[in-house]
Amino acid sequence: MGDGFNFENLKTAILALSRATDWATARREWVLTGVYEADQPETCLCEHFPIIEICVIKNTITQAVAEVGNVCVKRFLGIRSDLIFAALKRIRKDITKSLNEDAIVLCLKNHLINQWGYEFLQDTKRKRSLSERQMSKRMDINRKVLTAMAHRGLRT
Ligand SMILES: [Zn+2]
Repeated sequence: MGDGFNFENLKTAILALSRATDWATARREWVLTGVYEADQPETCLCEHFPIIEICVIKNTITQAVAEVGNVCVKRFLGIRSDLIFAALKRIRKDITKSLNEDAIVLCLKNHLINQWGYEFLQDTKRKRSLSERQMSKRMDINRKVLTAMAHRGLRT
């Protein structure tokens, strides 16, 4: 597998965990619920090995949970989880940096931030010079996100 992605394997595995029996409908039952970095390499639902950056997906109808890599989540759900991981690495290196759009959305869905926090992060994500208060708020949220990541991921 040159691109580390076996679409047929993914489809079969996803359909087995979905209520719908056709792919176009079944894929819409799934949402991204979390991301984490694995301590040990894991295997994607498409059977690609190894994956370290793990995306946790959940079927909202059957409640089934599965773990896939960045390539699969992008092709399957259209979410750039690689950018979420990049943002997490950026704030780990420098706590004053901002999260990006997709990471902020994921934090809201995981109740790591509330609606106010969501709007604050979206409004200030491209700002380099924040007031002292804004910067301390950004760093607080960043720390919370990193703590959640350290405990096997951002999860609902
Ligand atoms: Zn995969």
